[in-house]
Amino acid sequence: MTPARRLVAALLVALLAGQSAPVLAQQRAPGARPADNTDEGGIWAAMDKAEIDARASADVNRDPQLNAYVKGVFCKLAPEYCGDVRIYVMDRPYYNAAMAPNGYMEVWSGTLLRARSEDELAFVLGHEVTHYAENHSLQTWRAMKNRAAAFLGVQVGAALLGAAAARSAGTAEGARAALDTAEGVSNVIYLGTIASLFRFSRDNETEADRLGMQRAVSAGYAADTGVGMFKALQAETKASQFFRVRNSERRLNIFGSHPLTAERLKQMETLAPMATPDDPADRRAYRARIRPHLAAWIRDDMRRKDFGQSLHLLDQLAADGEDAGILGFYKGEAYRLRRETGDLERARAAYQAASAHPDAPVQTWRELGEAHRKAGDKAAARGAFTTYLERAPQAEDRWLVEATLAKL
Ligand SMILES: [Zn+2]
Repeated sequence: MTPARRLVAALLVALLAGQSAPVLAQQRAPGARPADNTDEGGIWAAMDKAEIDARASADVNRDPQLNAYVKGVFCKLAPEYCGDVRIYVMDRPYYNAAMAPNGYMEVWSGTLLRARSEDELAFVLGHEVTHYAENHSLQTWRAMKNRAAAFLGVQVGAALLGAAAARSAGTAEGARAALDTAEGVSNVIYLGTIASLFRFSRDNETEADRLGMQRAVSAGYAADTGVGMFKALQAETKASQFFRVRNSERRLNIFGSHPLTAERLKQMETLAPMATPDDPADRRAYRARIRPHLAAWIRDDMRRKDFGQSLHLLDQLAADGEDAGILGFYKGEAYRLRRETGDLERARAAYQAASAHPDAPVQTWRELGEAHRKAGDKAAARGAFTTYLERAPQAEDRWLVEATLAKL
């Protein structure tokens, strides 16, 4: 939006609301840092501290190629902020990304794993940089402070900022603890993310979707990316094995504070009524970028213990027939760990299918042997265990497999 149009829009909003002094949103000047003695400077100082904690987190993905790739996409979308924004890829299995006002951004591996092409990554990054460019956190902060001042005095604002800073400092630990228990997942993660410090208004969120999409389109990405992405999020939410997740769109959704997926989908469908023709080459190129982390990220996803969603995700990842060995192995793992009626047979079939592909991890044969053994097929179990030992002669569990073989 041009400054002139923004002014007109702000005036209109103010007139409709019957206010006399409209607060104009100002786009952030690249390279600018607020003075320390301003409210914005205070927010930045708190975020600088949160960033130091994030940088030290064990979850930070330090693969230079992956980091350069994500940053490269960002700089295509927002060249003016390329030097201002520091992106941290965090190995955390949720669809999440967050932008702090001091230029510190987190992109979680769950987002990179679920994106089907660079277009989707670009849409997410475009959304986040819009929060930054439009100073949404400052708007939110000031609105919060005004509300607080009306009732309790300005000091409340300072106390809230202190609490926010303390909460952000606990983010990484909270997130890690949450990963260990399925129960904690929905409670801690979503409250603990940096995004929750600034509960952007719905207007801010829809603006971030709209302007983020404009940035993506200007950089050559598909206009209907948001439509496909939100539909995919809805489908994965429905695939959850937990009733409360299926019935709460916010659970899987990026950043707990974002408006419901359905509402955002509706806006994207209005903005991009035409579907962009699908290009499998785009998906292949994107997969090549994330392939080195595919197995680790899927393993992390399984730790959420929502096998309904993990299986759905594995099917999505397998749609183009790539990585059939890795994906088939983890499909087997999902069934094995879920242990519902019939899952042993499903796991056995998945391992069997995976073993036909050259990229199957060596553990496929050990688990296949175990599945055969449990199903009572001793000959097949012997064959699979023998193949495992041939393929992994140095395996740490060799003695165990040999002992099992001896009893078969
Ligand atoms: Zn947002």
